[in-house]
Amino acid sequence: MVYSKLANGTTQCTTNEIIRYVGIGLHSGHKVSMILYPAAPNTGICFLRRDVESEHMLIRASWKNVVDTRLCTVLGNEHGVTVSTVEHLLAALRSCGVDNLLIEINGDEVPILDGSSAPLVDMINQAGIVSQRLPRFGIWIERPLEVQQGERYAVLAPCDVPRITVDIEFANAAIGSQCLSVDLIDNVFETEIAPARTFGFADELEQLREQGLALGGSVRNAVLVDDDRVVNQEGLRFADEFARHKILDCLGDLALAEAPIFGQLYTRKPGHRLNNALLREMFAHTDAWSRLTYAEINQRIEKGQVAEKSWINAVN
Ligand SMILES: [Zn+2]
Repeated sequence: MVYSKLANGTTQCTTNEIIRYVGIGLHSGHKVSMILYPAAPNTGICFLRRDVESEHMLIRASWKNVVDTRLCTVLGNEHGVTVSTVEHLLAALRSCGVDNLLIEINGDEVPILDGSSAPLVDMINQAGIVSQRLPRFGIWIERPLEVQQGERYAVLAPCDVPRITVDIEFANAAIGSQCLSVDLIDNVFETEIAPARTFGFADELEQLREQGLALGGSVRNAVLVDDDRVVNQEGLRFADEFARHKILDCLGDLALAEAPIFGQLYTRKPGHRLNNALLREMFAHTDAWSRLTYAEINQRIEKGQVAEKSWINAVN
């Protein structure tokens, strides 16, 4: 599954300019400043907590550093320094083809902005992307990998179409059952997925706030669901905005693989914990994937080496 620039650009990329923005954390409610600096090849995506001692400030955006997944994805380093709600930013960076970036932040939570990735995609597009000299690598899925957590399930399977399919089911009539499958080619992420906002439930809000969570949450940065209705006056951006946002979250969490994944994902009732478990399963089974340059990936796509049937078997 993955990413609008499938096999486009055989070299690593960073942004052409520094990106600055300010916003509030969904859970902390704190105002936070972000500065995104272009970074050298092979840097990856790294957060720098400007408000802690310099020797403790670095947190690499890697699946290995996920320390909490209950309400959002939280990254932490060996010094116990964390940065939370990273998934919408990471989805935008991966989907726009940014491999290397240093992200300065002066608090412990990435600003929620409007609850989607759309403002981030706009800022990245405005800054522009520059190609760097070193080759870009991708993770080519060779055989299906699956994880299950109760009713939650995910399978990552070989495919040369970058496709992601989600199935969600909520008791609230405003959401109900939604299934959506998208091929992440061309500008599909930008137009169909990035604008989908995060969502929350009115009957859980008070309890979360008592626990010091969702303090920055409002209809300005989330879709608020009250049983069978959407509270936001402007309504939904898409009839299936909820399923689209789950796709956005999956893409952000799987960006923690630190390389684009070439395969397709089917996931039922996805969540941040399941997404991280899928990456842990993948990295525990090195026979199930290959780390290839984009030039090698393009050769495989041209030769049509993918066995579609393995995907169908895996789903059934
Ligand atoms: Zn989200």
